[in-house]
Amino acid sequence: MRGIPRYDQPVVDARAVDCPRCSALPDEPCESPGGGRDTHKPRIASASSAGYVRELELASWLPVGNDLTPHKLRHSHRVWLDELGTPAILAHDRFGHSMPGIGGTYAHVSALMREELRARLQERWETTLDERLAISPTSPVPILNELLAARLKKVGRARLPIVSQHPASTVMAS
Ligand SMILES: [Zn+2]
Repeated sequence: MRGIPRYDQPVVDARAVDCPRCSALPDEPCESPGGGRDTHKPRIASASSAGYVRELELASWLPVGNDLTPHKLRHSHRVWLDELGTPAILAHDRFGHSMPGIGGTYAHVSALMREELRARLQERWETTLDERLAISPTSPVPILNELLAARLKKVGRARLPIVSQHPASTVMAS
């Protein structure tokens, strides 16, 4: 798509090297006889092979914690979808991917599939909140604290699961 920067593609600093085509020096723009100022392809190739390549990091790939990036949440979300037995076409759709192969040609996402997945994810989210509530009804993280308070108000303390030991592994295994 024109005009939209491709943050997922590396950027070559072509002006770091001189141009083999028009002999522009480093930091100088390429010059064409016709007046164009597009960087010559051989210069881009030269800079690329010399290692003047920058990987741009998507904002969603920057770590929010120790080795935890929002992008990795896509991996855990995919595991959730698989554990819930989500149809492949629906999982692909949810991730913004198109399903490869002949399976993708004939499979389609229906409103019922979306609604069932939404209900299962909601149920799973509420179970997770209940397990977290059972550990402690408050959190120093404001948004989680609000969610816990709202959940506690809704379910009441009596219905919470009993989490006696190793709560994290209990959550992982369930
Ligand atoms: Zn040039």
